[in-house]
Amino acid sequence: MNWNKFVRRGFQRRRRGPERAALLVVFLVCSLRADGPPAWTNEYQPAAARLISEATRDQFAWNRLATLTDSVGNRLSGSPQLDRAIIWAAGEMKRDGLENVHTEKVMVPKWVRGAESAEIVTPSHHFLAMLGLGGSVGTPKEGLEAPVVVVHGFEELEAHASELHGRIVLLNVAFTNYPETSRYRRAGASRAARHGAVAVLVRSIGPDGLRLPHTGALDYAAGVARIPAVAVSSEDADLIERMTSRHENVVVRLKMDAHTEPDVESANVVGELRGRELPDEIVVVSGHLDSWDVGAGATDDGGGCVVAMEALRVMKKLGLRPRRTVRVVLWTNEENGTRGGTAYRDVHRAELGRHVAMIESDNGVFRPLGFGVAGSEGARRTVAAIASLLERIGASEVVAGGDGADIAPSVREAHIPALSLEVDGSKYFTIHHTQADTIDKIDPVEMSKCAAAMAVMAYVLADAPPTVLDAMR
Ligand SMILES: [Zn+2]
Repeated sequence: MNWNKFVRRGFQRRRRGPERAALLVVFLVCSLRADGPPAWTNEYQPAAARLISEATRDQFAWNRLATLTDSVGNRLSGSPQLDRAIIWAAGEMKRDGLENVHTEKVMVPKWVRGAESAEIVTPSHHFLAMLGLGGSVGTPKEGLEAPVVVVHGFEELEAHASELHGRIVLLNVAFTNYPETSRYRRAGASRAARHGAVAVLVRSIGPDGLRLPHTGALDYAAGVARIPAVAVSSEDADLIERMTSRHENVVVRLKMDAHTEPDVESANVVGELRGRELPDEIVVVSGHLDSWDVGAGATDDGGGCVVAMEALRVMKKLGLRPRRTVRVVLWTNEENGTRGGTAYRDVHRAELGRHVAMIESDNGVFRPLGFGVAGSEGARRTVAAIASLLERIGASEVVAGGDGADIAPSVREAHIPALSLEVDGSKYFTIHHTQADTIDKIDPVEMSKCAAAMAVMAYVLADAPPTVLDAMR
């Protein structure tokens, strides 16, 4: 999941209770005629019912995800596990009977974490629960050691600029929502380095609890020294803060082997169910196959990949071949480069105008609520009409959204209606980018409902009468 999506998610997370309800009403009123969904959707009731019952009849999706997360593991760009996952996914698509299964080469960055540790050495000894931030440089081989200065935001950092030379800066800002706090992870290193800091510790971007550090990408500013950057658990940030607020001199020793190697070859994985009447018109369903190098990338975003694959598997199994082509794309390199998404835009430029819609699932596969949409009012109306077929699984909400990081380059270039699967996000940030992003956090029944929602939305978009789709432009 990337910055843009988080910005939007943050806004959504602030909408609660009556405000959110009011927004939903506005959307639904705008989206449906006064007396319910338009007549054409009724024709899709039987197909939707079959797709839902096939997707939710067993734990197929969860079992497939367990194979990926257990037997392949986490999948950082450039890692052997991501290479294995790409081969595995193409094999699974063939086993599902999909057509035109292939990989599309993408060059991706290769960041390697290596061994890493951080410890308080003065006034007492504590190992810190830490994770280097993605893209960070390492320390000198022997490590580095320096006193810590605690600040609670960029204003305070600037106010203490003269005290930062030769120091390690701890940015101790409590998590509120992602856009507000992830900027400290993104920009903290360069902001501190401008004033001569030698390293930066960032309080983890996520709710407090259980001493769990959260990694994620950073952005070094051009022309500023690159210093090592680390996420520490909220408990450890508070430990340092308590000591410094007692005017104790806190010294931290940091050792990191992190480094960046030359770009390596990776790939997007693509499979299709070719359309029976208009095969050149395309609906894309997708998730990103890469993950961070901690945990197992179950929620971010192995689950999204599997439910996108499920949409086609279930259609194929039921013999439901839509009018247009449904294409599943499993993106590479969402987490630290979005090269998969940009490569798709470049390679498929000539046919982007024939993309009817692009859907990405990258919000987790918890209890599905419905879809986020970016596009015209007509697109929102059409999606809301189709989502009404998902009422029985509680997934008929339609909200503003649709800004998946990987579909974004194509969507922007060709003004393609964009959809995001929206789910109950209450657990998402607790495990986001941590060792705890494992399949035990995912409920098989909720996941199967996500698969059902993806299948119905993709099928009806791909099969809808041309007049309906014309209204989406
Ligand atoms: Zn993601």
